[in-house]
Amino acid sequence: MPLWDQINRSLYPEFGDSISVWNSSPTAAYFSSGSSSNYLVNAADAYYGNTGWDGYGGVHGFCGNATDGFALLNDSTLPGKDYSYRRHTEAHELGHALTLDHADGYVAVMSTTDTSYYSPQQHDIDDMNARYPWP
Ligand SMILES: [Zn+2]
Repeated sequence: MPLWDQINRSLYPEFGDSISVWNSSPTAAYFSSGSSSNYLVNAADAYYGNTGWDGYGGVHGFCGNATDGFALLNDSTLPGKDYSYRRHTEAHELGHALTLDHADGYVAVMSTTDTSYYSPQQHDIDDMNARYPWP
């Protein structure tokens, strides 16, 4: 799906790797290069302040149908965090943009209680494949 990638690589040089982990997963998740006129997922960062979140992702939709997704990174707090946590946050928010929900209690990049995973785990893959059947 077309990704409008506006992430500042001087703050997040690893962001391309966070895209790649989804693209190489055995799911229908595949981000291609998009723009402001054709994106389905918008990835952006800004100084949002001390909001209580380092990243924020989700989908916009109508009557339960997602029309587009977003993954936002908070420049006010996330750049100072360690590499593993940044990678987790980036892949996690991209997961929300793919419509995934939290998976607390599982080995999953969508967990909020265990932030040590920064690529899709089997639970994430099963969740994706349940939503988007994969041939
Ligand atoms: Zn989340």
